[in-house]
Amino acid sequence: MLNIGWLGEGKPFPAGPISSEFRDALRQLCEMPILKHRGFHGCELCGLRSPYVGNGQIRVKDQAGQVFAAPTMVSQYVEIHEYQPSDVLIEAALNSIGTSADGLGKSNA
Ligand SMILES: [Zn+2]
Repeated sequence: MLNIGWLGEGKPFPAGPISSEFRDALRQLCEMPILKHRGFHGCELCGLRSPYVGNGQIRVKDQAGQVFAAPTMVSQYVEIHEYQPSDVLIEAALNSIGTSADGLGKSNA
């Protein structure tokens, strides 16, 4: 599993446009995190503090089977701070959405 989308104050990150399809997919994934934490993490970039945004993690899997872990805050990073994740996360999010509750895609069972 690879971690992706963990941004912090003072750390540079790629910014740029993303598709509305990806934005919506990421938002949907972050609304139903696979892991929820006790307490929550505020946004180090703008100071947003919300127990509904920074309180968990998502998992997505690309078509090659690589699983990525990202904080639920990643949706806020994309929408507010124009974070442009790598293409692998975008592909994995689009691949994962709507296939299962955990974002890891359909099982073979
Ligand atoms: Zn922020």
